[in-house]
Amino acid sequence: MENQNLDALTDRVADLIINAKRIVVFTGAGVSTESGIPDFRSPGGIWDRFDPNDFTYQKFISDPKSRRKQWQLLQEGSLTTEAKPNLAHYAIADLDRLGKLDCVITQNIDNLHQKAGVPDNKVFELHGNMQWIVCLSCGRRYPSDQIKARLDKGEEIPDCEACHGMLKPDVVLFGEPLPVKVLDEATSRSCSSDLFIVVGSTLVVYPAAYMPIYATNSGAKLVIINLSPTPMDEKATVLIRAKAGEITPRIIKRVKEKLAVN
Ligand code: NAD
Repeated sequence: MENQNLDALTDRVADLIINAKRIVVFTGAGVSTESGIPDFRSPGGIWDRFDPNDFTYQKFISDPKSRRKQWQLLQEGSLTTEAKPNLAHYAIADLDRLGKLDCVITQNIDNLHQKAGVPDNKVFELHGNMQWIVCLSCGRRYPSDQIKARLDKGEEIPDCEACHGMLKPDVVLFGEPLPVKVLDEATSRSCSSDLFIVVGSTLVVYPAAYMPIYATNSGAKLVIINLSPTPMDEKATVLIRAKAGEITPRIIKRVKEKLAVN
C-alpha cells in the first residue's frame, strides 16, 4: 500500500460512484476517530485499556462489578452527544445530496451520520444508538445526556427513576442479538447494492461484517477505505489506505467536478 496514487484512486472511485445505481456506504468506528471517538482495535484504542470479555450482555445483566465497568467505559468513550461529525460524515451526507446514496449501514452508535445530514430513514444502525438509555424492567427511555449527568455526579450504576429497574444503553452489547428489522433491511440493501463502500471498519465483527460479503456475492463492486488491512481487501475493486476524513471529501469533490455540479 506504499506509494498509493491517491489522485488515480480517487478518480476511479468517482467513476464507480457516477456509474452506480444503488450505493451502500458501510461504516465502522474508523469513520468517527477523526471526531475524537476512539476505535476499538487501533493502538491506543479502547481494547488497549479495557478487556472485551468484561463487556458482554450476560455480564452486564448478572454482575454489578461488570455493570460498573461498562458504565465507566460508556461514560468515557461514547456516552456523549458532544462529538461532532467530521469531514468523512459530511462527505457521505453529500453523496446523499447528490442523489447517489441508497443508505448508510453503520456499526457505530454515535449518531454522527444523522448529525451530518443523512436522513434518519437512510441510516441503519446495526448496533443501536447511544442517544438513549432504556430501563429493562419498565421500558422507560432516558436521553443519554441525562444519565451522563448522573454518572458525572458520581453515581456508578444508575437505575430507573420510575421503578428502580436496571438501565442499559440502547446499544447492542457483545453476546446480545442485533435488532432483527434493522439487520433484515441492511441485509436486503447490501444484496441489492451495485457499489458497496466500506469506510473505517476492520470487517471482523459479525454479523455486521457479512454485509460486504452479501454485496460482493450479489455482484456489487467493493471500495474499501481503511487505515489497516481487512479480510475483504482482496475482493476490493479499489482499496485505499488513507484517513477517511482526508480521502472521502476528495472523492466527492471529484464526483462533483465530473458531474459539473457544485
Ligand atoms: P474497529 O475498531 O474494529 O476498527 C476500526 C478500523 O478503522 C480499523 O481498521 C482502523 O484501522 C480504521 N481507522 C481508524 N481511524 C481511521 C480513519 N481516520 N480513517 C480510516 N480508517 C480508520 O471498528 P469496527 O470494525 O467498526 O468494529 C468495532 C465495533 O465497535 C463496532 O461494532 C462498533 O459498534 C463499535 N464502536 C463504535 C464506535 C462509535 O460509535 N464511534 C466507537 C468504537 C467502537
